[in-house]
Amino acid sequence: MSVYVVGHKSPDTDSVTAAIAYAELMKAKGEDYIPCMQGEPNPETALVLERFGVATPELLTDATDKKIALVDHSDLNQAPDNLAKGEVVAIIDHHKVGDVTTNSPIFFCAMPVGCTGTVLKGIYDQEGVALDPKVAGLMLAAILSDTVNFKSPTCTDADKKVVAELKEIAGVDDTDALFMDMLKAKSAVAGVPAMDLLHRDYKDFDMNGKKVGVGQLELAALDQVADMRDDLYKAVQEQKAGGRHTVLLMLTDVVKEGTDLVVVSDDPALIEGAFGAKLDGNSMWIDGMMSRKKQVVPILQKAFGC
Ligand code: MG
Ligand code: MG
Ligand code: MG
Repeated sequence: MSVYVVGHKSPDTDSVTAAIAYAELMKAKGEDYIPCMQGEPNPETALVLERFGVATPELLTDATDKKIALVDHSDLNQAPDNLAKGEVVAIIDHHKVGDVTTNSPIFFCAMPVGCTGTVLKGIYDQEGVALDPKVAGLMLAAILSDTVNFKSPTCTDADKKVVAELKEIAGVDDTDALFMDMLKAKSAVAGVPAMDLLHRDYKDFDMNGKKVGVGQLELAALDQVADMRDDLYKAVQEQKAGGRHTVLLMLTDVVKEGTDLVVVSDDPALIEGAFGAKLDGNSMWIDGMMSRKKQVVPILQKAFGC
């Protein structure tokens, strides 16, 4: 029976490339693993797949009667639908441990590093499986993406070491140039509906029984979205209206290294208090905020009493 390897909803480059890399590893060991993703690749991921000449994985949104390996998440909210009607056989991740549980022992490998690609490189090494140069390129791109070219506080020495190794295998000389190409693709906003931008990199969390959504748009400069601030705010409002307590949109300026945080909440004062900032209109600038995982989710969990 095939095992389907899948990353989180609103797939990012790490979610898609980790599914490919883990499926390749298991195939090399003679197992039948199929890489999947829960939605269309975002523009950055599409560029990366094309750059390294790797086929786009198939779509999978429902786990019913399937064997599943989860990568880059272990939260039910972010997993395929009906996960309980399938069987999770592996989890490989670099986030907080989520609420997915299993009835049988599984392969579980999580490390506090910047990217699932870094965790996977360790598993390849441990298993003694040689990395395909194309797959090494994908994992390299994922690490640059997740660590924002090493600027994110989530970046560790392990990520930097793995990038140095993957560069050699993939034959990539200039990782800064690769990152800038990826940033251009991921921050392209012209002609894209605001709701699609909110969902380009979006996650829902259960915070003490309240549903909280956080989207992030990484930009080379904030003024890229100057003309569409109203539309983005409306999209955040619309998303919140779907039964959520709070929806945040991080407009992250990768060059200035900070985030303008758009807030729609049943309790805006709670969000202001959590981040120690005041809303100016419907957003607040937070210097140094780059990472949803490290600088937003833990702070929200504390504020929501998780
Ligand atoms: Mg991810
Ligand atoms: Mg990741
Ligand atoms: Mg990310």
